[in-house]
Amino acid sequence: MTIPMLDVGAQNAPLADELRAAFDRVLSHGQFILGPEVAAFEREIAAYLGVGHAVGVSSGTDALLVALMALDVGPGDEVITTPFSFFATGGCISRLGATPVFVDIEPTTFNLDPAKVAAAIGPKTKAIVPVHLFGQTCDMRALRAVAGELPLVEDAAQALGAASDEGKAGALGALGCFSFFPSKNLGCFGDGGLVTTNDAALAERVRVLRAHGAKPKYFHALIGGNFRLDALQAALLRVKLPHLDAWHDARRRNAARYDAAFAAAGLPAERLTPPLRVYEGHVYNQYVIRTDRRDALLAHLGERDIGCAIYYPLPLHLQGCFASLGYREGDLPVSERAAHEVLALPVYPELGDAGVDHVAETVVDFLRRS
Ligand SMILES: *Cc1c(COP(=O)(O)O)cnc(C)c1O
Repeated sequence: MTIPMLDVGAQNAPLADELRAAFDRVLSHGQFILGPEVAAFEREIAAYLGVGHAVGVSSGTDALLVALMALDVGPGDEVITTPFSFFATGGCISRLGATPVFVDIEPTTFNLDPAKVAAAIGPKTKAIVPVHLFGQTCDMRALRAVAGELPLVEDAAQALGAASDEGKAGALGALGCFSFFPSKNLGCFGDGGLVTTNDAALAERVRVLRAHGAKPKYFHALIGGNFRLDALQAALLRVKLPHLDAWHDARRRNAARYDAAFAAAGLPAERLTPPLRVYEGHVYNQYVIRTDRRDALLAHLGERDIGCAIYYPLPLHLQGCFASLGYREGDLPVSERAAHEVLALPVYPELGDAGVDHVAETVVDFLRRS
């Protein structure tokens, strides 16, 4: 039984006719840049998220970049974020000439530790970028309490539709940043992203920055870039968005089935710790276990044609490109330990009970013997 890490084909196949119809619509109206498709998608996804404004952009990375630009982040500023994330989170801060300040995570959720954020805030802090890692929101209430007036920019690339007890990701901070990269819960057919906010003035800044800072066209009060979402991607995303909640339910069902299988196995915590679900609204972009046999388990699953992946093998503060920031191994031990112990198992909606059972059995058998 071959089980991939992700099966985008299985997700798109049932929608093929509708997707083709959306393509044909764009082909016939010929408005490829912004226009009615992007505007309609922005309205529909803003309603889905319960947020005032949604601005389609070219990728999750560009969403982060343009959100930080809208806040005027630049040289001399510090931006606090997590080292246990995809590179874009830290990269965008540096690209604007600001300094990323990496703060350690909570061991249970892999998300920023609010108490450690509080200790890192200083006179140069301009913003905080919490990442809702693996599809579960951070403790935004605690983060807001420590942030005070400082804006929180949610990196919700893995958390579209994820909710805490307060509401959905992307509506819980000053700005929310999403990705439609194919491996995210709502994937497009290439690159795409979104910025959300409840602040009309910030939304307007993001819109202007998205098209070279021009307002009106050819008159530039700001220096922006080409950060536009393609009309074709928007049209295709409009087909997929109505199915997102059902896909989330399937991911949660898969996760619950793993949880039950792993609990029944009764292995010691260091050998196998399933992910902690703090909020009902976890959307399991990834189902990530911890194990002290990580590398051996990775190899074992690979030999048995079961897809799995390490998110992330090297925390950002130890990346070569950030060497000049002066971090050393041991500085952020919770993230460093996670990098050695985490393994993401397949959890995609179409995996099904038999798929989950096969993966869970293979994992448990191996860890019991090792
Ligand atoms: C995927 C991802 C991004 C970047 O999104 P792209 O659309 O690939 O540019 C940023 N942050 C996190 C946490 C991500 O998972």
